[in-house]
Order: sequence, then structure tokens, then C-alpha cells
Amino acid sequence: MSFLVRQRCLFVSRPFCGILRLPRCASFCSSPKWGEGVVTPSFVMTDEKMKRRPFRKVEMRAVQSEAELLEETPIGVKDEETLVRMWQGFGRTEEVPVLVKKLMENTKALEAELGEELKFGGPRGSLKGEAGKTEDRRHRAFYHTLSDSESKLQFFAARQVACRILGSHGYLCEHCWLPTQDCMCEALVKGSLWQNMRLWVYMHPKDFLRKNNTGKLLWQALGDQVQLCVCGIPLHEDAMWAALQQAGRDHVWCVYPAKNEHEITVSKLSAPQGYNEEARETTEDCQLQPLNFIMIDGTWSNSKAMVSRLQERASAVWEGRGMPCLALSPDEFSSIHGLRPQPSMEKTCTAAAAGQLLRELNQTSAFAGHDLDLTADTIDEAVDCLSEALVGRRRRVGRPVTRSRRRDYQSN
Ligand SMILES: [Zn+2]
Repeated sequence: MSFLVRQRCLFVSRPFCGILRLPRCASFCSSPKWGEGVVTPSFVMTDEKMKRRPFRKVEMRAVQSEAELLEETPIGVKDEETLVRMWQGFGRTEEVPVLVKKLMENTKALEAELGEELKFGGPRGSLKGEAGKTEDRRHRAFYHTLSDSESKLQFFAARQVACRILGSHGYLCEHCWLPTQDCMCEALVKGSLWQNMRLWVYMHPKDFLRKNNTGKLLWQALGDQVQLCVCGIPLHEDAMWAALQQAGRDHVWCVYPAKNEHEITVSKLSAPQGYNEEARETTEDCQLQPLNFIMIDGTWSNSKAMVSRLQERASAVWEGRGMPCLALSPDEFSSIHGLRPQPSMEKTCTAAAAGQLLRELNQTSAFAGHDLDLTADTIDEAVDCLSEALVGRRRRVGRPVTRSRRRDYQSN
């Protein structure tokens, strides 16, 4: 096994050439696999500073081969056809948003302009090198010329999505959003959702194509009755709102602890006409409008703004009445908690929240009898499957399996 010292290695002698010169590390760095420029620490300690720092503080991460380094360097989308196929796989909308396409073209044009191939790297697959700096400078400058907050949000969302698509192609599996070596698609057990139920994964743009996102598990495991809607992408939001308006306000809930007049618990949820047990005996399921549940998929700080955005549009659509928010009562952490600690039991990941919602609904008379508990089991298994894939990946690339608790961790 070779050792590659990556960003956390702080001790590199001057002049920095990419090969460690510390006595403690010399044996690893003499490997012919590692040449100049392989090691890219976030900053370099000079010889003088090194004298003041003990060697024991050196942090190293072991990797299996050079392929690990290459793995962090995806190749970018090569053609329009690939982009359209990828987009349809992600979002279930036929068209690629114009702004996303334009931003991707602008970014790809940097290759010719700067005479260097685009390189992506780091945990978020961001654009690196001169192209990365130029893209950031130009798009930030453009962002500041936008006068209203809606345009700014749409630009921000499109830029995030464009960069993630460019950076993920050839690197992440298009279905499970994991690096191809860690693909969990074959291990995933698929299930079904009651035909009159729709789940919407309302995703923050920063969570799009994230490896440890759990919102994606819902459509992977349950199919087309789960829809992705990226916040700030008008094509997605308009499609979602068209479906919600058609269903009607009494068929729509946002799963989020609102702590205000909109909040209700699942046990207090009143099913719309046609969904109570007596009526169901005489009404065919297919004649009923689907019941829509919106799962908020973002960090807890982002979620608040996302729910406000939903409420604003709900008020505009339903004459100031807003959207009811469902508060859940989970009694255990999800299996992914060890990898991505949750701040509290109520602030669980998106997939676990969906599973909890189905279990609580299954306890109510209006929703009993549709095997929602079995669907919840399928979701739990999908979360376990992702958790195992992420653990396997961390072991493979020599990263710690568990992470320390953060104050505001992901809800996705
Ligand atoms: Zn996969």
C-alpha cells in the first residue's frame, strides 16, 4: 500500500516539490508511484515553522493506489445527448433548464480560452485550477449585477447544478450518486408506494449530486411516485406546483416542524374527502387525487428558507392560507446517524423522515391498509444500504468511518 499525503499534511520541507522529505515519511514517499506534484497540501509549512511543531501532529491518509487520486478528477460532460440523458435521470423533467445549459457551456468554453482541460476535485467535485478561479470570478461578478433575490436564487441554483453535473460525469453513478467504484445500485432493494401517494424531494441546490444525500434514495427505491424538485430551478418548481394546485390544498403537506400555526401532527391529520374508511369502500382509488407530501432536503439552516419559499408560493396560490406542515415524532436515530450525526431525534435525514412519516400515517384510520409500514421498511433498508456503501468507501480511501457531531448538520 502506498501513502499519499493529502490536504491535511502540514509538514513539507522547502522547497515544496510534492514529495515528502520528512524522515518519518521518507519510506512512503520513495515509492515510484508518487512523483512531483502529486501531493497538494492546503498550505505548506516552512522549515522554520517545522522546528516549532512536533512530528506527531502529522496527519496522513492512506489510499490504495493512484486511481484514488484520479477518482477525484472527473472528466465532465462531453456532449448534449449525455447531458439530456443525465438530466432526465436526475429530475424526471424532459428539458434541461436553459440557464443550467448556458452556464455549462460558459464553463466548458474556458477549456479553449485558457488552453487547459477542466479538472474537478475535492469532496464536492468543484472546478479546480485557473479555470475554477476564472469561473468563480466571472459568475460572482454576474451574480452581483442581478437586482432581485429571485433572479439571484435561480442563478445560484443553476450554477450549482451545472458545476455538479460537469464534475460528476464519469465519476459518480448517475443513479445512486456514489463514485462508480462504490455504486450501490445492485444492492438496493426496490419497493412500492401506495398509488395515491406522491412524495416530493424538495432539494437544496447544494445537495444535488451529493454522495451522502438520502433524499435520492426515495426515488431510487420507490420509483416514479417520488419526484425531485431542486429549489430555485423554475422547471422543477413549476412542475411541482402545477401538480400541487391540481391536487388542491387539502391534498398537500410539507413534512417539517414549523413550530407555528401551520404545524400539525400526523395523528391530527384529517384525510380529504374520499380517503376515510367509509368512503373508500365505495370510491375507487384511481378516482382520488394523489396525496402530496413534500420532504425538505437540505441543511437545517437552509431548510428554514426553503419552507418559507414554499409557504410564500402556497399563500399566493391558495389565497393567503399557506401550507400545513407535518411534525413527526421519531423515537430513534436513523442508521446513517453514525456517519452523519443528526443534531436531535426530530432532525433526522430526509429518507428516515419519509420512513417515519409512512409509519405514523399507517397508524391512522385514513391511511391504514396500504402497506405503508412495508414501504417504510424498504426505505430503512435503502438507508442501511447507503450507509454500508459510504462506510465501504471511507475504508477504501482511508478516511475515518465516523464523524464528529456538528451543530447544524444535514437533514438530507
Ligand atoms: Zn449506482
